[in-house]
Amino acid sequence: GRRGLAYARQKAPAAPAQAVGRRWRCGAGRRRGTFRRRVSAAAARAPVIACVALGANLGDAAAVVASAIDALNRLPDTRLEARSHLYRSAPVDAQGPDFINAVAAVSTRLTAPDLLLALQQLEQRAGRERPYRNAPRTLDLDLLLYGDARIDSPSLTVPHPRMMERAFVLIPLAEIAPDLVPAAALAAVAGQRIERLS
Ligand code: ADP
Ligand code: MG
Repeated sequence: GRRGLAYARQKAPAAPAQAVGRRWRCGAGRRRGTFRRRVSAAAARAPVIACVALGANLGDAAAVVASAIDALNRLPDTRLEARSHLYRSAPVDAQGPDFINAVAAVSTRLTAPDLLLALQQLEQRAGRERPYRNAPRTLDLDLLLYGDARIDSPSLTVPHPRMMERAFVLIPLAEIAPDLVPAAALAAVAGQRIERLS
């Protein structure tokens, strides 16, 4: 009825899973129902800590990375928990100017594939173009870790397969989650040039 719908509009994002069925019948049409179901599924899932690596080496790269970190905090069902300083690093397997890098930890109720999609949308919004593999990019967002999940699908591998070889990932990650970065891994990338920005 009308009352239920108004109530649902007001409260939908925080809907307890149990109450959603009732509101679902109040929904008008398929799209609304699909949305509600996703919201309720997200609300029913426990939040997961996910770590995201950010990198940029075109334009005002520091501003791009800083605003991408803010954007992570605004993703649906997601909250920024920690962020590293910004770092400057030499390109690895890539061309162009130095990169600006950072790592952020979010608490999210998005599934790993949905989080990856959201990251790719942020990349698109930053105007990323990919004329060729490893081309300079405005913004690169990699999903490093999704809780302790191991994922091996065509579009998503977690933990990120190259994270342990990259100082620009390990050093900022160690700053916010030292337990996740073994000393031996840090030692192995000690030759890579990277500096912390204030
Ligand atoms: P890279 O980040 O390795 O320099 P790209 O950003 O161009 O290269 O690679 C993006 C592709 O990698 C996407 O098609 C995406 O599906 C895939 N991919 C697989 N695992 C991950 C992950 N953990 N994080 C981000 N992208 C991933
Ligand atoms: Mg990437």
